[in-house]
Amino acid sequence: MNIVITGASKGIGYAIAETFASHGHDVYLTSKTASDLKTTADTLAMQFPNVQIHQMAADLSKQAEVTNFANWCLQKTTPTILVNNAGYFVPGKLQDEADGQLQTQLDTNLFSAYHLTRALLPSMLSNHAGHIFNICSIASLAAYENGGAYSISKFALLGFSKNLRLELKDQGIKVTAVCPGAVYTNSWSGSGVDPKRIMEASDIAKMIYAATQLSPQAVVEDIVMRPQLGDL
Ligand code: NAP
Repeated sequence: MNIVITGASKGIGYAIAETFASHGHDVYLTSKTASDLKTTADTLAMQFPNVQIHQMAADLSKQAEVTNFANWCLQKTTPTILVNNAGYFVPGKLQDEADGQLQTQLDTNLFSAYHLTRALLPSMLSNHAGHIFNICSIASLAAYENGGAYSISKFALLGFSKNLRLELKDQGIKVTAVCPGAVYTNSWSGSGVDPKRIMEASDIAKMIYAATQLSPQAVVEDIVMRPQLGDL
């Protein structure tokens, strides 16, 4: 399978790339900072010499860069799986967060997935097969303390997933919304939270991989995961 993963240089995206590569699948990786992405790709290439690790940096908050990345992918492959994972969390309250915060959160957390999916879909549809994962959040499901614009962007991403699922169900493409609670990544390092209190990035990757192992007639529509001790 050919797996396209955004936000793949670190955190959950890295764990997803590592998991698919460890199962022998070629990966097409992107994230914003070119040097971090190259380090990730080099590490995975050393670890898994029998799979192809492709990488191209792009700022996916910009539609033109999404288009460039999509064209680069399409020149190389027909994607089997697309994981829309790139995103970031800025805490805030709607009443006093910075002007423009909703726009910047939507640009990265929603429009990146919207534009990339639309660009890759014709190729996936021509294959009548594929699987799209959108990394939403528990902040997609309910109001979240200091969630502000982030929570709005993640609600929107879940809405995108649900509509995509409805549209694509009779065209051979599966859509899964992934809604994790706290996962120990960069967002949490330095927070003082015990890494053992919350989930590991590999936990999310394992569930995503498992969801790709079902028969063509079965789909996991939603994955909701929380730390065993509940939300923080
Ligand atoms: P992370 O470790 O900070 O990694 C985020 C990844 O996204 C990085 O590769 C980053 O690249 C990339 N990225 C961010 N902005 C980008 C942009 N404009 N263009 C291209 N790439 C961009 O974060 P994470 O915790 O793994 O989060 C991954 C996803 O899971 C996010 O969508 C997040 O909202 C979601 N999530 C996380 C948690 C959690 O507790 N960690 C919980 C629920 C959902 P650069 O570093 O180069 O910018």
